[in-house]
Amino acid sequence: MFTLPDLPYAYNALEPFIDERTMQIHHDKHHAGYVKNLNDVLVGNDALLAMPVEELMKNLSQVPETVRTKVRNNGGGHANHSMFWTFMGPSAGNESRAPQGELAMAIDAAFGSYAKFQEQFATAGISRFGSGWVWLVANGKGLSIIDTPNQDTPIMDGKAPILGLDVWEHAYYLKYQNMRADYIKAWWNVVNWPEVEKRFASAV
Ligand code: MN
Repeated sequence: MFTLPDLPYAYNALEPFIDERTMQIHHDKHHAGYVKNLNDVLVGNDALLAMPVEELMKNLSQVPETVRTKVRNNGGGHANHSMFWTFMGPSAGNESRAPQGELAMAIDAAFGSYAKFQEQFATAGISRFGSGWVWLVANGKGLSIIDTPNQDTPIMDGKAPILGLDVWEHAYYLKYQNMRADYIKAWWNVVNWPEVEKRFASAV
């Protein structure tokens, strides 16, 4: 059975950048829905139900074809949101908490500077047509920005996401309406860089 992880902070912890009501609905309804649907669709398939969701997403070819699309969507939704909550934190993204150490050097090497990285990442998020995600993935010591449609997760392709941003409308519409660019700009204020640094260190 898959279980919904608790949000690692209060619903209002990311205010004013991400509002409390959005966090409630996003975690308690959307993420909970992916978990429920994933469990429902795999009823009776104990081997798959026992896998960590990351393993399940790496092994979609083992999932019966009749339910594979549902597992891809809901398992991806579960994996992506479980990571997403940890990518954010209360007042974690002020200037003093910009990327540091090895990660800061890798960002400079790949994109020129932190500001240029932010620009490219935001552009990828804004350009993602419809629903999806934008990701920073580690390839050894290198880094790249990719985007995925729907709930597709980089884990499916054996990639190592170290940061990701949900650009589905449900992630921002209550506060930002159609202004996805404003949501992305505000989001930098709540990025939990220590978590991203940790993921980068274990991906290298
Ligand atoms: Mn979402």
